Amino acid sequence: MAASKRQYFEYIVIGCGGIGSGALYWLSKRSSSGLHHLGVPETYDPLTEDKVTSSSSICFVLGLEQFSLGHERGGSQDVSRIIRLTYDDDRYTRLIPDTFKAWRQIERESGLQVVWMTGGLRLARKGQTEDIMEKFAESMDRNNIKYDRLSNLQLMARYPQFTVGPDIVGLYQEQAGLVDAVVGNAVHIQLARGNGATVLENCPATRLTRANNGNVIVHTTKGVFECRKVVVTAGGWLNSVLGTIGVHVPVTVTQEQVTYYATPHMKEFTKEKFPIWIFHCPRYSIYALPIHGNTGSKIGVDVGGNVVTADSRTFEPDPAQERTCTELLQEICPEFLGPILQTKTCLYTMPPDRHFVVDTCAYKGWSDVIVCCGAGHAYKFASLLGKVLSELAVDGRTQYDISQFNITRDAIQDPTFKPTFFLGRGTGAKL
Ligand SMILES: Cc1cc2nc3c(=O)[nH]c(=O)nc-3n(C[C@H](O)[C@H](O)[C@H](O)COP(=O)(O)OP(=O)(O)OC[C@H]3O[C@@H](n4cnc5c(N)ncnc54)[C@H](O)[C@@H]3O)c2cc1C
Repeated sequence: MAASKRQYFEYIVIGCGGIGSGALYWLSKRSSSGLHHLGVPETYDPLTEDKVTSSSSICFVLGLEQFSLGHERGGSQDVSRIIRLTYDDDRYTRLIPDTFKAWRQIERESGLQVVWMTGGLRLARKGQTEDIMEKFAESMDRNNIKYDRLSNLQLMARYPQFTVGPDIVGLYQEQAGLVDAVVGNAVHIQLARGNGATVLENCPATRLTRANNGNVIVHTTKGVFECRKVVVTAGGWLNSVLGTIGVHVPVTVTQEQVTYYATPHMKEFTKEKFPIWIFHCPRYSIYALPIHGNTGSKIGVDVGGNVVTADSRTFEPDPAQERTCTELLQEICPEFLGPILQTKTCLYTMPPDRHFVVDTCAYKGWSDVIVCCGAGHAYKFASLLGKVLSELAVDGRTQYDISQFNITRDAIQDPTFKPTFFLGRGTGAKL
């Protein structure tokens, strides 16, 4: 193929982190059927560069990743992310059953387990943060989700790992657990490749332009590609890509971290014996997970980190966050502790209202560019969001209710919108 020719794909996904790898998989399922290739201009097999005469055997989906797959600079690395049935906000609670279904589908197809159910606890201090916890109880009541209320004694009877006074109360909901993000991402990619998708690593997309025939041109460091629809799942780098078509999502990127403790009491903190839990503090929450993927118990502060950019962030742990976690554990779950095995840093990318953005860029004349921002709490939804994005790309609409994740809402378009990053109260906190 002449060097000046653009390779054509029907769909291009920019950014193969958690959500992008999900989008690639779901798009590859739809487009490998060969039913969506009408109106394809001169096409070339991306691998052999031969002109394609029969398009039915080729999957026209391309995933671009600026680094190598599985890199640790974005938001989706690490072996475990919490998945739970309930949010305090119905826009998420009503999507969650489908997110479990999406994960089950890739588990069935790959034969690998991605989600582990452990049960989930919410804990609060009476008179201090009970009101935040109550919002979750109200949401579960509204959505007919069963849960148990626990006093401190009931909590310790169920989970003797906790040593809490009567000032601590809890809610237990059994449909909660963890998703293995490393496995989830790799499974999505490998299944997508199996469906014929092409993935180019170390290949940043540098800009988007419009072709004369109306298609979108994606410029990269490794060549120029043309497509019908682009899905931008670029995490903390979202605006570098979107900026080239005049779209800006006012995200705040923070450097978050999780700490693994080398507890000597491993047997008490296995997935079979110990739940995921979230402790509500007045200005942030602390979340913890049982041992998975290594030998350490895991804990982190939600929105506890410094504001950074995806490129300026460091990989240095913040000792203040480690201290906050250690102090809470000393009080309520001392056997969880041990020497610090590892503290891993990671990025949150949050719109000012901390809600997802899942929409096209039609308001700027780019209805064929679809964007998704996970707002620092999206891994549990990664496969489902991938499915939603594939439907938006292929069908132009989705069966799921994403009406409140639009890009034209005030939080995105009104520069005076006051950020509220803590999904309970306040603005989130740098410790
Ligand atoms: C410490 C921590 C704990 C978390 N805990 C949970 C949890 O318990 N439960 C939960 O549901 N969520 C959790 N989250 C949030 C969740 O992990 C993220 O919302 C989600 O993983 C973000 O996925 P993403 O695909 O949007 O971003 P990323 O995974 O960052 O992917 C974006 C990708 O795009 C690539 N890219 C960017 N620009 C370009 C370009 N120009 N060209 C090509 N590629 C590009 C990047 O290199 C990157 O690979 C947590 C996040 C952190 C940091």
